[in-house]
Amino acid sequence: DRLISPEEKEGEELVEKSLRPQYLSQYIGQNQVKEKMSIYIQAAKNRNEALDHVLLFGPPGLGKTTMAYVIANELGVGLKQTSGPAIEKTGDLVAILNELEAGDVLFIDEIHRLPRVAEELLYSAMEDFYVDIMVGTGPNAHAVHFPLPPFTLVGATTRAGMLSAPLRDRFGIILHMEYYEVADLQEIVLRSSEIFNVEMLEDGANEIARRSRGTPRIANRLLKRVRDYAEVKSNGVVNKTVADKALIMLEVDNAGLDRIDQKLLKTMIELYQGGPVGLTTLAVNIAEDAETVEDMYEPYLIQQGFLKRTKTGRVATPKAYEHFGYPFEMELI
Ligand code: ATP
Repeated sequence: DRLISPEEKEGEELVEKSLRPQYLSQYIGQNQVKEKMSIYIQAAKNRNEALDHVLLFGPPGLGKTTMAYVIANELGVGLKQTSGPAIEKTGDLVAILNELEAGDVLFIDEIHRLPRVAEELLYSAMEDFYVDIMVGTGPNAHAVHFPLPPFTLVGATTRAGMLSAPLRDRFGIILHMEYYEVADLQEIVLRSSEIFNVEMLEDGANEIARRSRGTPRIANRLLKRVRDYAEVKSNGVVNKTVADKALIMLEVDNAGLDRIDQKLLKTMIELYQGGPVGLTTLAVNIAEDAETVEDMYEPYLIQQGFLKRTKTGRVATPKAYEHFGYPFEMELI
């Protein structure tokens, strides 16, 4: 249960909802995605047609759900939301398809986790706006043709590679969400502070942004904790010093690394001379399983250039040595 985990935590949904931008003009960053979407939305509106199906992929917490709602708002249509794991049988999907009105957006989060039978039902729904449902059993079984209004499927996934080719091919618009620049995160923190009524100075917002691992969800979460600190330990105003002190207390260092990230890198440097060290060995040393290390901890460390994956194992980079104040020659000992 890490403070800097990019996944949504329990109870966070309502706060996130209140912070969600409603329109493209309020959506900060992701300029390429916004530019493309604004053209496609305008074109669909001009033709008075449903927008082509959209696949959004990228790491958690970057604003895929937010973008789905923005698309529906910009189109001026309704949105129905579900997720891959929430659909257990075809009936669940049919029920939600049945509720759609012409032009609506159907948002399916974690679309790569849809059961196979539901995914297959989507093929005709996406391509020709109908589903054939089998009713009855045995010799009485027959297909019922069920027409649907034209709609836009917006699918979100953390890994486009996990989607089957037939499903991926049915999306006319495929967009990759990138980690955010510090300047964009700073703007998001300032915007959220206004909504939360927090007096936030620019250098305070910058300090939070720098430690948010390129992820708005983390920026908003850190903002809430820093606000608590500022209210109790100071006069409520968040400047660089207050943000820094609060984040040190929360054990998020100036590169956005928490205790586990630090332990992982320090283990490599102190016990294995910077590597190469095998994933399993590393995982045992920090009392985690290999999969967690690979999926949860490594991506950010790799992206930030603290760690490298090589054929012979994981290697700590000179940047990692420098971050903890170790001389790089240690590797040669
Ligand atoms: P997941 O896939 O894990 O559900 P997500 O990519 O759908 O994550 P969202 O729920 O859309 O992420 O966003 C997380 C939080 O970050 C929300 O509170 C949202 O308001 C905020 N946020 C995301 N993107 C932006 C943005 N561009 N501008 C302002 N706030 C943003």
